[in-house]
Amino acid sequence: MKIETHKCDLCGKQATSKEGKAELDLAQVIVGLSQSYYTFAAPQVHGGHKEWTKDACLACRTRLGVTHDQIKANPETPNLTLEEVLREIMREEIEQATGANR
Ligand SMILES: [Zn+2]
Repeated sequence: MKIETHKCDLCGKQATSKEGKAELDLAQVIVGLSQSYYTFAAPQVHGGHKEWTKDACLACRTRLGVTHDQIKANPETPNLTLEEVLREIMREEIEQATGANR
């Protein structure tokens, strides 16, 4: 017997039932990080760029201010700053890499 589990990459909440999956309402979010820095030779050198694709539940998307309704209602002012969103993603990446919990 196969059991399909839906899991939010951000909060870790899981669901196996049809109703639970509907409530979780997973959707993909893409977050990117670009790096640039200054040197004496060139005013700005662009470093690496990385993007992460995450499956995020409705509660996490709402918390981050990235649901379709929130973006439509207020496209220029997300609930969290970009820095806050990136910190959240980096914390999740570090937790996954090290196995550390909050
Ligand atoms: Zn979540």
